[in-house]
Amino acid sequence: MRAMVLDKPKHPLELRDVPKPKPGRGQLLVRVSTCAVCRTDLHVVDGELPEPKLPLILGHQIVGRVEEIGESNTNFAIGDRVGIPWLGWTDGGCSYCRSGRENLCDNARFTGYTVNGGYAEFTVADARFCFHLPDRYNDVEVAPLLCAGLIGYRSYRKTGDPRRLGIYGFGNAAHLIAQIAVYEGRELFAFTRPGDMATQQAATQLGTVWAGGSDETPPEKLDAAIIFASVGPLVLAALRALAKGGTVVCGGIHMSDIPSFPYADLWEERVITSVANLTRRDAEEFFEIAPRVPVRTRTKTFALEDANTALDQFRTGKLSATAVLTIPE
Ligand SMILES: [Zn+2]
Ligand SMILES: [Zn+2]
Repeated sequence: MRAMVLDKPKHPLELRDVPKPKPGRGQLLVRVSTCAVCRTDLHVVDGELPEPKLPLILGHQIVGRVEEIGESNTNFAIGDRVGIPWLGWTDGGCSYCRSGRENLCDNARFTGYTVNGGYAEFTVADARFCFHLPDRYNDVEVAPLLCAGLIGYRSYRKTGDPRRLGIYGFGNAAHLIAQIAVYEGRELFAFTRPGDMATQQAATQLGTVWAGGSDETPPEKLDAAIIFASVGPLVLAALRALAKGGTVVCGGIHMSDIPSFPYADLWEERVITSVANLTRRDAEEFFEIAPRVPVRTRTKTFALEDANTALDQFRTGKLSATAVLTIPE
């Protein structure tokens, strides 16, 4: 089968013919139809995340059809549409797994990072961590929901029940989560790169009450803020925009250092927290609410062999939509 393979961080992916994987017990062999590109893929290619499996097939927002099932009963039948996310496997037995926090599992495996992912014609995945996807979306539309949507949703839920919510870094995850926040009646404040009027305008069209640069002070104090940009100093900007008791949620897997700051900025029960990975429960909740809103995705398709172009355009900020690799049968 054809796959885009990463041999070494900081090098382009290589289109290569590799053996088709065989599904083990409880695994699905999936013919990949689409795979959305995530910022985490960039962090892996750019060497910002430690110890990826090498050589590696990237990609953890995978949509495909079940082609073969490794012996054992699963929730899927041959031909079913299936979504494969970032969380690929957990041990089920560690203290995190046993306390409803499988996202923190000591031995978790991650799709397109520590196990092969979906920048390929086929992939295998543990059926217990795969999802049926809402019918209202086609394969291209639904792909960005599998990470930007799921991990964005976990970040959003970690903010509690804020009346005024700020979002710093208005990219793919923000675009999806903003729609849910507005649907749930929250006052949304969008923070973009200073001077990025196009993104501020796009945010306003989604129903934000205010949109401005990340260097600006919002007109009201916020009950919570989510940071989707991988820029450490934004944590302080967000913290200073919070009302008493407010929460800053860092939604990314990688971020530059956070500068030191006076304790007074944190005092009065403000909280800084982060989000790591997702649980299957997050996905169930998100795939229930997303089609009701309905959350709409913006996508730009690329052929599998053009994955490097997609990554480059993402890295240089040239994409205003989620890149989705499409792999015709
Ligand atoms: Zn575990
Ligand atoms: Zn991701």
